[in-house]
Amino acid sequence: MASPFCVAPLLPQSEPPRVETADGVIEAETVVVCPGDDFTGLFAERIAAYNVTRCKLQMLRVRPQQPVRFKTAVMSDLGLGRYLGYADLPEAEPLKRRLDADLKAERDNGIHLIVTQSADGSLVVGDSHHYATTPDPFASDAVDDLILGEFDRVLDLPGRLIAERWLGTYASAPDRWRFTDKPSDSVRLVVVTAGCGASTAFGIGEETINELYGSAA
Ligand SMILES: Cc1cc2nc3c(=O)[nH]c(=O)nc-3n(C[C@H](O)[C@H](O)[C@H](O)COP(=O)(O)OP(=O)(O)OC[C@H]3O[C@@H](n4cnc5c(N)ncnc54)[C@H](O)[C@@H]3O)c2cc1C
Repeated sequence: MASPFCVAPLLPQSEPPRVETADGVIEAETVVVCPGDDFTGLFAERIAAYNVTRCKLQMLRVRPQQPVRFKTAVMSDLGLGRYLGYADLPEAEPLKRRLDADLKAERDNGIHLIVTQSADGSLVVGDSHHYATTPDPFASDAVDDLILGEFDRVLDLPGRLIAERWLGTYASAPDRWRFTDKPSDSVRLVVVTAGCGASTAFGIGEETINELYGSAA
């Protein structure tokens, strides 16, 4: 039995069991297409039916001046106002009203604070959220300052340095956090439409293969 082929690089004319890629032809009886936020390539019309857009995020790597050891990720109230598991609860309403009043610019820029430590002691700090079909490629200093302002309200790390700044984009949809489309019996189109694809990928991968092959796969 040929293996399922679970990466993106295939050309539009591909059809199992023949998958044409930029590196040549691959034999695969099933194909799982995971194009991320590339909505204009494979199966563009099918993806468009899900009303997808993009979310642009800014993040930074911060280097503490003195060695410090975090044993856990650090978040703040802004996270409780954004993550739907909390933010959708009725109890979150007063908090969101308070955040909207006290931290309007942060809320308007979709900012919540997440700080995690890398092995070298530096801190990955995020992030902002701006939605557009074609976001611009520029990282805004003003947005970075809002993220860092929240960082400094929560953590006392005088002399901290900014080591890196970057932005990224992911697929987003207004009414779902993921979708699996079935262009044919042997092809699945899988997109996570919220910023949780890194955390959920292994579960979704297992579920997708089980659906194609049965849970004994
Ligand atoms: C700044 C940022 C922070 C994030 N933080 C988190 C987090 O804390 N936790 C979390 O769970 N998730 C997080 N995410 C979201 C997570 O990264 C995504 O949900 C996840 O990467 C989606 O994985 P994917 O493999 O489906 O798509 P992608 O990672 O987008 O990969 C798709 C790949 O397919 C390629 N491709 C598309 N079409 C074709 C084609 N026709 N031919 C060849 N190649 C093609 C693309 O170039 C791309 O390399 C974050 C994302 C960003 C940008």
